[in-house]
Amino acid sequence: MTDRAYTAYSYLTAGEDFRRFELAPEFGRVPPYAAGLTAGQAERAAALLRDSLVISLHDHPVRFPARMEETPEYNRTGRQHAAYAGLAASGLTVVFDNMMDGTACVTGNAPWRWDDIITDLGMRQADLAHAPGVMTVRTVADIDEAYRSGRTGLVFGLEAATPIENELDRLDILYGLGIRQIGIAYSDANTLGSGLNEPVDGGLTSFGKRAVGRMNQLGLAIDLSHSSDRTALDASAATSAPLLITHAGARAVWDSPRMKPDDVLRAIAGTGGVIGMSAAPHTTLSHEHPAHTIESVMDHFQYCADLVGLEHVAFGPDTLYGDHAALHRVFGHLLGIAGRRPGPAFNPVEYVDGLENPTECFGNICGWLVGHGYSDDEIRAVLGGNIRRVLQSIWVAP
Ligand SMILES: [Zn+2]
Repeated sequence: MTDRAYTAYSYLTAGEDFRRFELAPEFGRVPPYAAGLTAGQAERAAALLRDSLVISLHDHPVRFPARMEETPEYNRTGRQHAAYAGLAASGLTVVFDNMMDGTACVTGNAPWRWDDIITDLGMRQADLAHAPGVMTVRTVADIDEAYRSGRTGLVFGLEAATPIENELDRLDILYGLGIRQIGIAYSDANTLGSGLNEPVDGGLTSFGKRAVGRMNQLGLAIDLSHSSDRTALDASAATSAPLLITHAGARAVWDSPRMKPDDVLRAIAGTGGVIGMSAAPHTTLSHEHPAHTIESVMDHFQYCADLVGLEHVAFGPDTLYGDHAALHRVFGHLLGIAGRRPGPAFNPVEYVDGLENPTECFGNICGWLVGHGYSDDEIRAVLGGNIRRVLQSIWVAP
């Protein structure tokens, strides 16, 4: 066992070397989920979580300010605080950590600036280097080492390639600094292609096609979660490696632009890729469960598994420590949520019961799968096995 007592940036003096914020707790912010399992089912789920390779394809395993409206000032310091205790209790082997994402406003008020991305990436890794029990993951061998040693591995990712502007070599720079997964576009279009908010879907640009080629050459995993439908289809045709949708759901289950239509889901699976189910508040809703909980998310999981096969499905819950619903209100204009075509009417929730934070997600997913008759092999596949298999075809193996 490793000593997990380290807290973020405790190699420095809080209040002296960096500004201190009151942060959301890693445990107990919301009541525990009542899964309703029998004692035998709960025991089987706990054993599966403990013994399996568990990978989150998309999360933000950091603590946000207890008062979410302080987040712009908090992110301005360049220091988001990783939730080391929360991660140690999560059962997660590996997390695709997408850092500040569209809230990276270190030097200004709009996201995706190169300097902000580099600050975020470097600062997080400086802290991580001082933390026992965690490691940076850059290869499949690193994933296996995290599993073998009982450490939590973090894969650094970016939700959009916007910071590379018109320079392919910046992809190599990001790769050299540890980035192993990158989105094509976010809500807005960029030099690579259309994001999911564009009124006219231009698909992948010619520069975007060259960028996909460079990402393939590098062994950098490509994520279409926030790209437009045509960008995803064009990327599927252009790529020589499997593609990822790290965090989304099915538009056939919930008709919003953030969800993916069947042809996109089939195209991603057709590249040999994998689709992670999101649980960010008010995304993966369903008509059976229009108040967002783990049950609505699992409606998307079942639909996608039926459509493209269980071997192409995984989970990227997109959770964090803090009030995620409030984060969408504070940053809605930057994230593009504010201007997006709304989906069907739904009952807003304060949080997604069962999938509120990275600590509880995979235990509850495991419990749900056990409770719904999935075999141990099927559960291991969707918890992490599918992702590991796909990464073997994407990442380079030095
Ligand atoms: Zn996202």
